[in-house]
Amino acid sequence: MPVGPAGFPSDWLADPSSPASDVELALLLVNTLDLLEDPADRLRDLTWLTHALESARHDGLAGELTARDLPRLRRLRDALRHVFETDDDAQAAAVLNPLLERARAVPLLVASGDGPASLRVGLGRQGIAALEARLPAALAAFVATHGTGRLGVCGSDPCRCVFVDRTRAGTRKYCCSYCNDRLAARAYRRRRRS
Ligand SMILES: [Zn+2]
Repeated sequence: MPVGPAGFPSDWLADPSSPASDVELALLLVNTLDLLEDPADRLRDLTWLTHALESARHDGLAGELTARDLPRLRRLRDALRHVFETDDDAQAAAVLNPLLERARAVPLLVASGDGPASLRVGLGRQGIAALEARLPAALAAFVATHGTGRLGVCGSDPCRCVFVDRTRAGTRKYCCSYCNDRLAARAYRRRRRS
């Protein structure tokens, strides 16, 4: 698979040269389960996620996670996957609202001095506690703006990696160009056989 330094396809992130958004961090966490990899679960330890966070320019978060956080990371991952899998905003709300309430993911207004003030969730929290507040909040804001239709699961069986659809027409079907090509190659072989 054509991968970046952390072992994830470069087309998972909109702009690899700037820090990943919290929606993209949610994507990276959900994609720690990758059925094309052996073993499929990359959260047996923190190696992959730490590298992914560093490559996504979140060294701070990467350094704050410890092995004790793995069960909470897996629970957060499994819950957030439902938001990418559903095309029903009400179902997304049913998943995200309890996470938001449990994490007390309250947006706080932060004045910056020179630029405009911003709303920040999970302010002052670290590591897993920050992720438990920020990732559901980011996905909730994303769904409120774009709907669940812009979050998807790769259609290149058996891959179940998720993606954010930034295409103008909202027609993205695969998590990365590798899966797109893999499916095209399979269709080509099928055509040649028949
Ligand atoms: Zn895929």
